[in-house]
Amino acid sequence: MTASARLLIVGPQGSGKGTQGVRIAETFGIPVVSTGDIFRANIKGGTELGTQVTEILDRGDLVPDELTSEIVRDRLSQDDAANGFLLDGYPRNVAQVGHLDEFLSGRGEALDAVLLLDVPRAESISRLSLRAIEQGRSDDTEEAIAHRLDIYERETAPIIDVYSERGIVDRIDGVGSLDEITERIVAALDARGLHVAV
Ligand code: AMP
Repeated sequence: MTASARLLIVGPQGSGKGTQGVRIAETFGIPVVSTGDIFRANIKGGTELGTQVTEILDRGDLVPDELTSEIVRDRLSQDDAANGFLLDGYPRNVAQVGHLDEFLSGRGEALDAVLLLDVPRAESISRLSLRAIEQGRSDDTEEAIAHRLDIYERETAPIIDVYSERGIVDRIDGVGSLDEITERIVAALDARGLHVAV
């Protein structure tokens, strides 16, 4: 069975949001919509979009809001996202929050919860450096990592205030074992009446 849940997972790069996002989405039977994954798949596949965004990703900069929001609207319009989804990496600034609000309210929907994974900056940097060695992502150079964390603090952190005012943010301690963190998230969602699919 699929449980309806419209979720956003947010946190600095290296907070483990990708890993936890997949776990939570599986638990709820909803798709993960990760803009970073969509861009990387397009780069790998050599599509026109991929060519357009390669340098932006390598620099650690943000892809233009309009382009990103259009991609997300297309993805959320697919059948498998009708009952819920977990957004990872979008919205990433206040302008994108506006785009998402407009799209969702047009469907009579809204986000149910925003999961904020709390991880100290030093921990994020050490996890990212490890991932750079393990996965060889071209945007995991030391310079690009620091740049992306700066962008997170400047552009993405403010979206937390916007969602906090709506009372939908759950702050999750992102330090611990993978299972512990998943349990914390599931408990927070449960407290909101968002229950796991059975
Ligand atoms: P991520 O995998 O979420 O860390 O994203 C990797 C890269 O994709 C980012 O550093 C940006 O260049 C780009 N990107 C992902 N999501 C967005 C977004 N919502 N807006 C703009 N650029 C994005």
